[in-house]
Amino acid sequence: MIDEILNKEELTKDDIIELLSIEKEEELNKLFEKAYSIKEKYIGRISHYRGLIEFSNYCIKDCNYCGIRKSNSLVDRFAMNKEEILKMAKWAFDNEYGSITLQSGERTDNDFVEFVTDVIKSIKEFTNGKLGMTLCMGEQTEEVYKKWFDAGGHRYLLRIETTNQDLYKNIHPKDELHSFNKRVECLKSLKKIGYQVGTGVMMGIPNQTIEDLANDIIFFKDMDIDMIGMGPYIVHKDTPIGKYAIEQGLDTDEHKKKRFLLGLKMIAVTRIFLKDVNIAATTALQALDPLGREKGIKAGANILMPIITLEDYREKYQLYDNKPCIDDNADKCKNCLTGRVMSVGEKVGFGEFGDSKHFFKNLR
Ligand code: SAM
Ligand code: SF4
Repeated sequence: MIDEILNKEELTKDDIIELLSIEKEEELNKLFEKAYSIKEKYIGRISHYRGLIEFSNYCIKDCNYCGIRKSNSLVDRFAMNKEEILKMAKWAFDNEYGSITLQSGERTDNDFVEFVTDVIKSIKEFTNGKLGMTLCMGEQTEEVYKKWFDAGGHRYLLRIETTNQDLYKNIHPKDELHSFNKRVECLKSLKKIGYQVGTGVMMGIPNQTIEDLANDIIFFKDMDIDMIGMGPYIVHKDTPIGKYAIEQGLDTDEHKKKRFLLGLKMIAVTRIFLKDVNIAATTALQALDPLGREKGIKAGANILMPIITLEDYREKYQLYDNKPCIDDNADKCKNCLTGRVMSVGEKVGFGEFGDSKHFFKNLR
């Protein structure tokens, strides 16, 4: 049955559900091998880095799962200055990381918009346009997205989090600021402007079903998404969903293992279904398993996002409990990760953008 599905040209929703439901080790191995063979065919045995700069944890939103949500008064808030961000971007450039990701909590005020515009322009200038820039700063107006695109950002990551709209409502405050439709509109604006557009979901959110996840993968295709950044949901104890998960006994090692496996299966099935998109093996995978990112690569991912945030700020940007690499510095992360990539028989595309092949296929 599994062999039959894996040999199909096009998967149906039922096939996707069947694959996401696999539990037997032998079948899991077949799934991951198939996904990796597709990665090899469309991308090659290569992974690319996006040095992750988490430059501020101020946020106007209150997502019920996120450790840096506005209402979490236990968070020590920080915002890096321009020099600090440029210092990290320079480190990434000097170390031949092809790209960086600029990520922060969401802010829409004019000071923030202008600050980010200036930072993007400066990075573009001093690298002569030779450092790829992925932006991940939440929902903005189309004008702001355009402004940042014109300044030099060319990829944007905005996770849809879940495409089950009832679940979306349950994991966010029920107000205008946290609207599913607005998020979809943002993804459309980003596409229209010309960004390579990334989205993704969290896997293993309490009350999420396998069918929800199958619908998420179909959504990626329907929206013609170029890049996928998704990872397992991880409990943060000072958040409403985290508290609920702990109360319901969903934060045990057994549940963490399940969510981790779900994360790998989602990467594999998304690779099989979408073929030529960029897929990240996110830090959240490593938070649940020390070999998480290597396993992500073997399941079909081709992008890694090593944290290059200055050490002093790392622990203040905790979306979930037990974030890995908090005590590391960028040099240590680079060596550790490159060793990990080589250990699975791949090379790192140093000095290359590692753009989404899907995006350029669409332009032809
Ligand atoms: N504020 C921007 C946004 O929400 O798009 C960008 C930064 S936000 C911290 C990046 C991602 O972190 C979110 O899209 C969400 O999926 C993820 N995240 C937040 N809390 C999480 C948790 N408890 N477990 C796993 N991922 C989480
Ligand atoms: Fe803010 Fe993003 Fe966290 Fe939501 S997920 S609270 S928007 S940082």
